[in-house]
Amino acid sequence: MNRLCRPVRMHIASVGVSKFCFLFSLAFCGLLLLLIPALQPPARQVDLPQPRPQVRPAQAGPSHRVRVPGVSLHAGETDSATELSRSSAGRTEGTRDDIHSPKRGMDSKRGAVPGGKGGRFSGSRSRDPLDFKDIFIAVKTTRKYHKSRLELLIQTWVSRAKEQTYIFTDGEDKELQMRTRVNLINTNCSAAHTRQALCCKMSVEYDKFIESQKKWFCHVDDDNYVILPSLLGLLSSYHHSQDVYLGRPSLDHPIEAAERVKSDGSVSLPYEEILAPLTYTAVSVKFWFATGGAGFCISRGLALKMSPWASLGNFISTAEKIRLPDDCTIGYIIEALLEVTLTHTHLFHSHLENLQKLPTDTVLEQVTLSFGGFENRRNVVSIVGGFSLADDPTRFKTVHCLLYPDTNWCPKLEHSHIN
Ligand code: UDP
Ligand code: MN
Repeated sequence: MNRLCRPVRMHIASVGVSKFCFLFSLAFCGLLLLLIPALQPPARQVDLPQPRPQVRPAQAGPSHRVRVPGVSLHAGETDSATELSRSSAGRTEGTRDDIHSPKRGMDSKRGAVPGGKGGRFSGSRSRDPLDFKDIFIAVKTTRKYHKSRLELLIQTWVSRAKEQTYIFTDGEDKELQMRTRVNLINTNCSAAHTRQALCCKMSVEYDKFIESQKKWFCHVDDDNYVILPSLLGLLSSYHHSQDVYLGRPSLDHPIEAAERVKSDGSVSLPYEEILAPLTYTAVSVKFWFATGGAGFCISRGLALKMSPWASLGNFISTAEKIRLPDDCTIGYIIEALLEVTLTHTHLFHSHLENLQKLPTDTVLEQVTLSFGGFENRRNVVSIVGGFSLADDPTRFKTVHCLLYPDTNWCPKLEHSHIN
């Protein structure tokens, strides 16, 4: 029986084995099919957020597009666009009712922005208070202003924030760097005051910020004084993971630009336009932007979302899409493309406004100050302190000594020259 059965058993066994093999192969193929999508490489780098849906209904969100035939719609067609963001951008201030209020959906109790002199801010009441080290301050300058403007900043507010201040320039200055030990970054961008050169610098600023891992990106010009305690107090009212864009518009209305879009109304990513240039048309787009001359801040959460249009040189092609300068392009990416609203604040100041109108007793509560020409007059904040107008024409030294009277070059109060 056993002998008889053996071949039979073997036969059954071999049938069993091939059946098993067959079923196993089927299961293996099935498994492979299931695994194919998982084995695909990710479409993008993991830390690059996907842009939001790119097709939007007209008038939805903060920006507003109107499809028009033709290409040239508004100002901004030439490099004189630089003027648009700074000068012709109006002397009026933004008038929206979201002026300097915490973002919707935030705990309004956290939003109280403290005022007062240096050191008075206690920071956020949240469990995760903002550390001063988490702020990245980018200063835009150019080689010819190292002596006349930058040195003053380094002597004053930058000296109190050396680790978090990054100075973006366009020429080498080893002597300055060695002497002052500041973070001086030569962008190798052109030293011209053109849209392309300014956007080139902003593009490097953005990339350096992303690389820094800091929580807030703030940009200022080399004619801005940053009142650091006020800046910390203001940013502590928000959370870096939220979409926050803070600044002061120089216009009292949104800017209108001609934007190149795909035929279906969606906004292209910069490289798409190069691949299929003929499928694009122009639409009018309106958005608010914070004027760069007063400084502005962006939360890391929002900055990461800007990546497809701002990182690794994309900022320059995005600026070309609307042919507007760096600060307008920031507004375009945030308000028009990402549909995040600019939070207007009156605490940032450029020399486009009459700085003398700022009440003296509120000067130290501001976040940024400036100096410069305004209606052909010397335009500086009115403040009384240790330096005369002749010794301190920008008033930055006076402000600094009121904030940090312990500074070794500040006049002792009893001997101070009251201007
Ligand atoms: N700037 C520059 N390259 C230039 C001229 C100016 O990067 O060729 C910078 C300058 O250092 C400053 C900003 O652009 O940070 C604005 O320049 P400015 O204050 O002279 O002009 P505004 O636009 O404020 O009138
Ligand atoms: Mn200026």
